[in-house]
Order: sequence, then structure tokens, then C-alpha cells
Amino acid sequence: MPPRVDREKCDGCKAEEEPLCAQICPGDLMVLGENKKAYCRAARDCWDCMSCTKVCPVGAIETRAPYQLGYHVAKLIPMMGTNTITWTCIDINGKVERFRYKNRTT
Ligand code: SF4
Ligand code: SF4
Repeated sequence: MPPRVDREKCDGCKAEEEPLCAQICPGDLMVLGENKKAYCRAARDCWDCMSCTKVCPVGAIETRAPYQLGYHVAKLIPMMGTNTITWTCIDINGKVERFRYKNRTT
């Protein structure tokens, strides 16, 4: 499923010429619209790597779990810490679970 951008939260990386989600997408899929809000320009080319979701500084991008796995309302939301990533998983019944992992060692 392609990333979904919350237009209320997205600030276009404060009008940077190339916002963070566009810089990091390996498929060059994230772009800014005329309204300076990001969107995925070719949803079927997205392979759910979630790089854009993780890099967004304002948490404006979320990934919907594929229909076959969780129907459209299920979500996975990452929160980047300094050395950790916390995933919030919301299932089709609204049940929330959080998983925290170290993603860097010093
Ligand atoms: S990284 Fe987030 S805030 Fe920046 S343009 Fe993309 S969606 Fe908007
Ligand atoms: S999930 Fe990955 S491939 Fe899809 S738009 Fe985001 S960065 Fe690009």
C-alpha cells in the first residue's frame, strides 16, 4: 500500500526544494504538489520500504497495512528515536500495540 500523507501535518519540509521524503525514496516517488504538500506520484510503484514514513520529521506519513493482511484501517506508524525505533500497530479493531527496538549500537 502506498504511503498516505496527512495534509494537515505535512508542512512541505518548510518549503524545501526537495523535502526529506523525496530525498530518501529509492523509487523517486514522493513529490510536492502545488499546495506544497507531499504525495506519492505512482502508488503502484511503491514497494512499502517505509523510508519516507520513518524520515518525515512531523509524522505526516503513515503506511496502511496491505488489504490481505489487515484491511484498510490497519496501520503501522514508526517513531524514530536516537537509537531506537518504536512501531505502533493498530489492527482492524482499533487495538493498539507498540514495539520498541534498538536500531543503532554505539
Ligand atoms: S517529509 Fe513529511 S513534512 Fe516533509 S514533505 Fe514529506 S510528508 Fe511533508
Ligand atoms: S514506502 Fe518507500 S518506495 Fe514507497 S513512497 Fe515511501 S520511500 Fe518510496
